[in-house]
Amino acid sequence: MFDLLRRSVNLRPPSRLTIVQTLTSLLAPPVCALCGGAGQQADEPWGIDLCGYCEGACLPLPPACGRCAEPGEAALCQRCCEAPPPFHITRALFLYADPADQLITGLKFQGELPFARVLGTLFARSLRRQGVRLPHCLVPMPLHGNRYRQRGFNQTEAIGRHLAARLRVPLEPGLLTRTRDTPPQSEQSAAARRAIHDAFAVRPGLRVPPRVALLDDVMTTGSTAAAAAAALCAAGAKKVEIWVCARAALSDAAGAGPWSANLSSSWPAANPSPSPPRPPDAPVSSTS
Ligand SMILES: [Zn+2]
Ligand SMILES: [Zn+2]
Repeated sequence: MFDLLRRSVNLRPPSRLTIVQTLTSLLAPPVCALCGGAGQQADEPWGIDLCGYCEGACLPLPPACGRCAEPGEAALCQRCCEAPPPFHITRALFLYADPADQLITGLKFQGELPFARVLGTLFARSLRRQGVRLPHCLVPMPLHGNRYRQRGFNQTEAIGRHLAARLRVPLEPGLLTRTRDTPPQSEQSAAARRAIHDAFAVRPGLRVPPRVALLDDVMTTGSTAAAAAAALCAAGAKKVEIWVCARAALSDAAGAGPWSANLSSSWPAANPSPSPPRPPDAPVSSTS
């Protein structure tokens, strides 16, 4: 019974549920999603389903490219130097590695929706601590209709609900649509990357605000993020940030190639940056 209670409270973003969540924390305190130990009470009304030890074991992003967050010592990676992608910066909560990957795969493939709350809560806390300037809206990476029917939910939207509620940023799950069903990014060949190039479109009649954050669970080659960001820029976004729960090192990703090859000719040009972009972890001014 306590499990059901925990699960039902876990699925809801904070708002009017504070009293219920506080009571639930007394009856059924949070339990770590990774080790089964006691979760954290933290500064959340109901706590977080992750213990401090397991949170500490999730690796933060090492020094990385200021634009695409590819791990490396240079301020900009070679791909971004040669032809910048249509997004301005990538902010990653974790490096895609054990055990953070278990939160993502558990949510995506085992339907562990409570993990979305863990990820959304931690991401919101991390962005707040960095003093990140908030975007006008948060757009979860859309799934194609076929994939959505198969899975029954969009894992990125589930994370986005918790993240947006905590940052008080509007979540816009209907703004961007996926018009083409493409293979999972990790399996992409150069041909598949070309196929994803025009796989996104902004829903006709909807206005895209100037500053948008595009949320995805994992970034590997970055081709999907680039294609989705290009669609948002083409529809009026002036600055697109990519927010990902985990960034895989490109050396681990199959099929990564230059941002530009076969693609950039029809991407809308990103706004030129007068100065090198900040690394993802650097603090910036905090206004919304
Ligand atoms: Zn744990
Ligand atoms: Zn880069």
